[in-house]
Amino acid sequence: MQSERLQSILDEVAAAAQADPDKGRVADYIPDLARVDPDQFAIAVARPGQPTLVAGDAATPFSIQSVSKVFTLAVALGKIGGHLWLRVGREPSGQAFDSMFLLEQEKGRPRNPFINAGAIVTTDAVLEGTEPKAALASILRFVREAAGDDAIHINESVAQSEIATGHRNFALAHYLLSHGNLQHPPELTLGTYFHQCAIEMSCTQLANAGLFLTACEDAPRMVSSSRIRRINALMMTCGHYDGSGDYAYRVGLPGKSGVGGGILTIAPGIASIAVWAPGLNHYNNSKLGTEAMQRLTDLTGWSVFGAPTD
Ligand code: GLU
Repeated sequence: MQSERLQSILDEVAAAAQADPDKGRVADYIPDLARVDPDQFAIAVARPGQPTLVAGDAATPFSIQSVSKVFTLAVALGKIGGHLWLRVGREPSGQAFDSMFLLEQEKGRPRNPFINAGAIVTTDAVLEGTEPKAALASILRFVREAAGDDAIHINESVAQSEIATGHRNFALAHYLLSHGNLQHPPELTLGTYFHQCAIEMSCTQLANAGLFLTACEDAPRMVSSSRIRRINALMMTCGHYDGSGDYAYRVGLPGKSGVGGGILTIAPGIASIAVWAPGLNHYNNSKLGTEAMQRLTDLTGWSVFGAPTD
Protein backbone atom coordinates (compact mmCIF):
# COMPACT_ATOMS: atom_id res chain seq x y z
CA MET A 1 0.00 0.00 0.00
CA GLN A 2 1.23 3.51 -0.84
CA SER A 3 2.51 5.45 2.17
CA GLU A 4 0.20 8.43 1.41
CA ARG A 5 -2.89 6.20 1.48
CA LEU A 6 -1.72 4.44 4.64
CA GLN A 7 -0.99 7.77 6.34
CA SER A 8 -4.47 9.06 5.57
CA ILE A 9 -5.96 5.84 7.00
CA LEU A 10 -3.92 6.32 10.20
CA ASP A 11 -5.07 9.93 10.48
CA GLU A 12 -8.68 8.82 10.04
CA VAL A 13 -8.31 6.05 12.64
CA ALA A 14 -6.67 8.44 15.14
CA ALA A 15 -9.32 11.13 14.60
CA ALA A 16 -12.13 8.61 15.24
CA ALA A 17 -10.46 7.38 18.43
CA GLN A 18 -9.74 10.88 19.72
CA ALA A 19 -13.37 11.91 19.10
CA ASP A 20 -14.83 8.92 20.99
CA PRO A 21 -16.04 10.08 24.43
CA ASP A 22 -15.95 6.51 25.81
CA LYS A 23 -12.28 5.95 26.56
CA GLY A 24 -12.70 2.83 28.73
CA ARG A 25 -11.15 2.57 32.21
CA VAL A 26 -7.42 2.72 32.95
CA ALA A 27 -6.01 -0.21 34.97
CA ASP A 28 -6.12 0.95 38.56
CA TYR A 29 -4.77 -2.13 40.35
CA ILE A 30 -1.21 -0.93 39.62
CA PRO A 31 -0.99 2.50 41.34
CA ASP A 32 1.40 4.00 38.76
CA LEU A 33 -0.92 3.04 35.88
CA ALA A 34 -3.97 4.48 37.65
CA ARG A 35 -2.40 7.93 37.22
CA VAL A 36 -2.10 7.73 33.39
CA ASP A 37 -4.22 10.28 31.47
CA PRO A 38 -6.85 8.25 29.53
CA ASP A 39 -7.13 11.01 26.95
CA GLN A 40 -4.16 9.83 24.87
CA PHE A 41 -4.05 7.82 21.67
CA ALA A 42 -1.32 6.72 19.31
CA ILE A 43 -0.85 4.35 16.41
CA ALA A 44 2.26 3.41 14.44
CA VAL A 45 2.82 1.14 11.44
CA ALA A 46 6.30 -0.20 10.74
CA ARG A 47 7.25 -1.81 7.44
CA PRO A 48 10.78 -3.01 6.72
CA GLY A 49 12.88 -0.55 4.78
CA GLN A 50 10.27 2.20 4.99
CA PRO A 51 9.75 5.04 7.46
CA THR A 52 7.41 4.12 10.31
CA LEU A 53 4.12 5.95 9.83
CA VAL A 54 2.36 7.36 12.88
CA ALA A 55 -0.65 9.32 14.12
CA GLY A 56 -1.44 10.76 17.57
CA ASP A 57 0.93 10.64 20.57
CA ALA A 58 3.28 8.15 18.92
CA ALA A 59 6.43 9.41 20.65
CA THR A 60 4.96 9.19 24.18
CA PRO A 61 6.37 6.27 26.18
CA PHE A 62 3.89 3.96 27.94
CA SER A 63 4.14 0.83 30.06
CA ILE A 64 4.07 -2.13 27.68
CA GLN A 65 3.04 -4.53 30.47
CA SER A 66 1.89 -7.86 28.98
CA VAL A 67 3.07 -7.02 25.47
CA SER A 68 6.48 -7.85 26.98
CA LYS A 69 5.36 -11.49 27.23
CA VAL A 70 5.87 -11.86 23.46
CA PHE A 71 9.54 -10.87 23.73
CA THR A 72 10.11 -12.99 26.85
CA LEU A 73 8.55 -15.97 25.10
CA ALA A 74 10.96 -15.52 22.20
CA VAL A 75 13.89 -15.34 24.65
CA ALA A 76 12.69 -18.40 26.62
CA LEU A 77 12.19 -20.47 23.44
CA GLY A 78 15.66 -19.41 22.31
CA LYS A 79 17.04 -20.60 25.61
CA ILE A 80 15.23 -23.90 26.31
CA GLY A 81 13.31 -24.50 23.06
CA GLY A 82 10.34 -26.91 23.17
CA HIS A 83 11.09 -27.90 26.78
CA LEU A 84 9.03 -24.87 27.72
CA TRP A 85 5.89 -26.74 26.62
CA LEU A 86 6.39 -29.34 29.33
CA ARG A 87 5.61 -26.55 31.81
CA VAL A 88 3.11 -24.34 29.89
CA GLY A 89 0.24 -25.17 27.52
CA ARG A 90 -0.72 -23.66 24.18
CA GLU A 91 -4.49 -23.36 24.55
CA PRO A 92 -6.62 -20.24 25.00
CA SER A 93 -7.76 -19.92 28.60
CA GLY A 94 -11.13 -18.22 28.23
CA GLN A 95 -10.35 -16.69 31.63
CA ALA A 96 -9.13 -13.31 32.88
CA PHE A 97 -5.41 -12.55 32.67
CA ASP A 98 -4.79 -13.16 36.37
CA SER A 99 -7.22 -16.05 36.88
CA MET A 100 -6.39 -18.75 39.40
CA PHE A 101 -9.28 -20.96 38.39
CA LEU A 102 -7.79 -23.11 35.60
CA LEU A 103 -4.41 -23.24 37.28
CA GLU A 104 -5.97 -24.99 40.22
CA GLN A 105 -8.01 -27.31 38.02
CA GLU A 106 -5.01 -28.17 35.84
CA LYS A 107 -2.62 -28.68 38.73
CA GLY A 108 -0.22 -25.83 38.22
CA ARG A 109 0.33 -26.07 34.44
CA PRO A 110 -0.79 -22.73 32.98
CA ARG A 111 -2.89 -22.84 29.82
CA ASN A 112 -0.59 -20.61 27.75
CA PRO A 113 2.45 -18.31 28.04
CA PHE A 114 0.41 -15.10 27.77
CA ILE A 115 -1.84 -15.37 30.81
CA ASN A 116 -0.03 -14.19 33.94
CA ALA A 117 0.63 -17.68 35.35
CA GLY A 118 2.09 -18.84 32.02
CA ALA A 119 4.19 -15.72 31.67
CA ILE A 120 5.56 -16.18 35.19
CA VAL A 121 6.66 -19.72 34.26
CA THR A 122 8.17 -18.41 31.01
CA THR A 123 10.16 -15.78 32.90
CA ASP A 124 11.21 -18.48 35.37
CA ALA A 125 12.60 -20.43 32.38
CA VAL A 126 14.64 -17.40 31.26
CA LEU A 127 16.09 -17.27 34.78
CA GLU A 128 17.43 -20.84 34.57
CA GLY A 129 21.15 -20.84 35.48
CA THR A 130 21.30 -17.01 35.35
CA GLU A 131 21.27 -14.12 37.79
CA PRO A 132 18.00 -12.11 37.69
CA LYS A 133 19.89 -9.03 36.50
CA ALA A 134 21.36 -10.96 33.57
CA ALA A 135 17.98 -12.55 32.72
CA LEU A 136 16.31 -9.15 32.68
CA ALA A 137 19.18 -7.74 30.66
CA SER A 138 18.72 -10.51 28.07
CA ILE A 139 15.02 -9.60 27.69
CA LEU A 140 15.77 -5.86 27.43
CA ARG A 141 18.61 -6.55 24.99
CA PHE A 142 16.25 -8.57 22.79
CA VAL A 143 13.66 -5.75 22.77
CA ARG A 144 16.27 -3.08 22.02
CA GLU A 145 17.81 -5.12 19.24
CA ALA A 146 14.40 -5.91 17.71
CA ALA A 147 13.47 -2.21 17.79
CA GLY A 148 16.95 -1.07 16.76
CA ASP A 149 16.78 1.38 19.66
CA ASP A 150 19.07 1.34 22.71
CA ALA A 151 17.11 4.09 24.45
CA ILE A 152 14.33 1.67 25.47
CA HIS A 153 14.34 1.35 29.26
CA ILE A 154 12.52 -0.01 32.30
CA ASN A 155 10.44 2.33 34.47
CA GLU A 156 11.61 1.41 37.97
CA SER A 157 8.73 3.19 39.69
CA VAL A 158 6.15 1.10 37.78
CA ALA A 159 8.06 -2.09 38.66
CA GLN A 160 8.19 -1.16 42.36
CA SER A 161 4.54 -0.19 42.26
CA GLU A 162 3.69 -3.72 41.11
CA ILE A 163 6.08 -5.42 43.52
CA ALA A 164 4.24 -3.63 46.34
CA THR A 165 0.72 -4.49 45.15
CA GLY A 166 0.98 -7.61 42.96
CA HIS A 167 -0.70 -9.92 45.47
CA ARG A 168 -2.50 -11.98 42.83
CA ASN A 169 0.71 -12.60 40.94
CA PHE A 170 2.37 -13.67 44.21
CA ALA A 171 -0.55 -16.04 44.81
CA LEU A 172 -0.12 -17.49 41.30
CA ALA A 173 3.64 -17.88 41.78
CA HIS A 174 3.25 -19.62 45.14
CA TYR A 175 0.65 -21.92 43.63
CA LEU A 176 3.00 -22.77 40.75
CA LEU A 177 5.76 -23.44 43.29
CA SER A 178 3.51 -25.78 45.27
CA HIS A 179 3.12 -27.85 42.09
CA GLY A 180 6.85 -27.83 41.37
CA ASN A 181 6.37 -25.58 38.33
CA LEU A 182 8.54 -22.71 39.58
CA GLN A 183 12.28 -23.18 39.84
CA HIS A 184 13.12 -19.99 41.72
CA PRO A 185 11.74 -18.24 44.80
CA PRO A 186 8.57 -16.30 43.90
CA GLU A 187 10.13 -12.92 44.83
CA LEU A 188 12.97 -13.58 42.42
CA THR A 189 10.89 -14.73 39.44
CA LEU A 190 8.28 -12.03 40.06
CA GLY A 191 10.93 -9.34 40.50
CA THR A 192 12.13 -10.17 36.99
CA TYR A 193 8.57 -10.48 35.64
CA PHE A 194 7.42 -7.12 37.07
CA HIS A 195 10.51 -5.39 35.64
CA GLN A 196 9.93 -6.91 32.19
CA CYS A 197 6.31 -5.66 32.33
CA ALA A 198 7.60 -2.19 33.29
CA ILE A 199 9.51 -1.75 30.03
CA GLU A 200 8.44 1.57 28.54
CA MET A 201 8.13 2.17 24.83
CA SER A 202 6.46 4.60 22.49
CA CYS A 203 4.14 3.31 19.77
CA THR A 204 6.86 3.98 17.21
CA GLN A 205 9.39 1.91 19.18
CA LEU A 206 6.89 -0.92 19.77
CA ALA A 207 5.88 -1.13 16.12
CA ASN A 208 9.57 -1.30 15.16
CA ALA A 209 10.21 -3.97 17.81
CA GLY A 210 7.48 -6.16 16.30
CA LEU A 211 8.96 -6.13 12.79
CA PHE A 212 10.82 -9.42 13.33
CA LEU A 213 7.45 -11.18 13.65
CA THR A 214 6.28 -10.03 10.20
CA ALA A 215 8.74 -12.45 8.58
CA CYS A 216 9.27 -9.81 5.87
CA GLU A 217 12.48 -10.32 3.93
CA ASP A 218 14.18 -7.16 5.24
CA ALA A 219 12.90 -7.45 8.82
CA PRO A 220 15.41 -8.03 11.65
CA ARG A 221 16.12 -11.77 12.00
CA MET A 222 15.66 -12.40 15.70
CA VAL A 223 14.22 -15.94 15.62
CA SER A 224 13.72 -18.67 13.01
CA SER A 225 10.77 -18.46 10.61
CA SER A 226 9.14 -21.55 12.10
CA ARG A 227 9.27 -19.89 15.52
CA ILE A 228 7.75 -16.72 14.05
CA ARG A 229 4.77 -18.77 12.85
CA ARG A 230 4.32 -20.36 16.28
CA ILE A 231 4.55 -17.09 18.21
CA ASN A 232 2.03 -15.49 15.86
CA ALA A 233 -0.31 -18.49 16.32
CA LEU A 234 -0.17 -18.04 20.09
CA MET A 235 -0.77 -14.30 19.76
CA MET A 236 -3.84 -15.00 17.64
CA THR A 237 -5.31 -17.63 19.97
CA CYS A 238 -4.19 -16.37 23.38
CA GLY A 239 -2.93 -12.77 23.02
CA HIS A 240 -6.04 -11.05 24.40
CA TYR A 241 -6.97 -13.34 27.32
CA ASP A 242 -10.70 -14.13 27.35
CA GLY A 243 -11.11 -11.51 24.60
CA SER A 244 -8.85 -13.41 22.15
CA GLY A 245 -11.72 -14.74 20.04
CA ASP A 246 -13.27 -11.28 19.90
CA TYR A 247 -9.99 -9.69 18.75
CA ALA A 248 -9.49 -12.41 16.11
CA TYR A 249 -13.03 -11.82 14.86
CA ARG A 250 -12.76 -8.05 14.78
CA VAL A 251 -9.16 -7.61 13.64
CA GLY A 252 -8.19 -10.94 12.05
CA LEU A 253 -4.51 -10.58 12.92
CA PRO A 254 -2.31 -11.93 15.73
CA GLY A 255 -1.99 -9.41 18.55
CA LYS A 256 -0.85 -9.07 22.13
CA SER A 257 -2.33 -6.58 24.54
CA GLY A 258 -1.13 -5.14 27.85
CA VAL A 259 -2.98 -3.45 30.71
CA GLY A 260 -1.00 -0.28 29.98
CA GLY A 261 -3.34 0.04 26.96
CA GLY A 262 -0.85 -1.01 24.30
CA ILE A 263 -1.46 -3.64 21.62
CA LEU A 264 1.13 -5.05 19.23
CA THR A 265 -0.43 -6.56 16.10
CA ILE A 266 1.30 -8.36 13.26
CA ALA A 267 0.17 -8.36 9.63
CA PRO A 268 2.39 -11.22 8.41
CA GLY A 269 4.47 -10.31 5.39
CA ILE A 270 3.22 -6.72 5.55
CA ALA A 271 3.63 -4.71 8.74
CA SER A 272 3.95 -4.48 12.50
CA ILE A 273 1.37 -2.21 14.10
CA ALA A 274 1.36 -0.71 17.60
CA VAL A 275 -1.61 1.10 19.05
CA TRP A 276 -1.96 2.71 22.46
CA ALA A 277 -4.96 4.07 24.33
CA PRO A 278 -4.77 3.65 28.14
CA GLY A 279 -8.48 2.98 28.81
CA LEU A 280 -9.42 -0.72 28.87
CA ASN A 281 -12.56 -2.68 27.94
CA HIS A 282 -14.11 -5.37 30.13
CA TYR A 283 -11.52 -7.94 28.93
CA ASN A 284 -8.76 -5.63 30.21
CA ASN A 285 -7.60 -4.93 26.64
CA SER A 286 -7.35 -1.38 25.27
CA LYS A 287 -10.87 -0.27 24.35
CA LEU A 288 -10.02 2.38 21.78
CA GLY A 289 -6.95 0.40 20.69
CA THR A 290 -9.08 -2.59 19.74
CA GLU A 291 -11.61 -0.40 17.94
CA ALA A 292 -8.82 1.43 16.10
CA MET A 293 -7.30 -1.86 14.95
CA GLN A 294 -10.69 -2.99 13.69
CA ARG A 295 -11.05 0.25 11.73
CA LEU A 296 -7.50 0.02 10.38
CA THR A 297 -7.91 -3.56 9.17
CA ASP A 298 -11.32 -2.80 7.65
CA LEU A 299 -9.74 0.05 5.69
CA THR A 300 -6.54 -1.79 4.68
CA GLY A 301 -8.01 -5.26 4.19
CA TRP A 302 -5.12 -6.70 6.18
CA SER A 303 -6.16 -10.06 7.65
CA VAL A 304 -4.80 -13.58 7.83
CA PHE A 305 -8.28 -14.82 6.94
CA GLY A 306 -8.77 -13.17 3.55
CA ALA A 307 -6.92 -12.29 0.39
CA PRO A 308 -4.48 -9.49 1.26
CA THR A 309 -4.86 -6.29 -0.72
CA ASP A 310 -1.08 -5.93 -1.00
N1 GLU B 1 2.06 -6.69 34.96
C1 GLU B 1 0.66 -6.99 34.75
C2 GLU B 1 0.21 -8.03 35.74
O1 GLU B 1 0.90 -8.97 35.94
C3 GLU B 1 0.48 -7.47 33.34
C4 GLU B 1 -0.96 -7.76 32.99
C5 GLU B 1 -1.34 -7.31 31.60
O2 GLU B 1 -0.71 -6.43 31.03
O3 GLU B 1 -2.33 -7.84 31.07
O4 GLU B 1 -0.81 -7.92 36.34
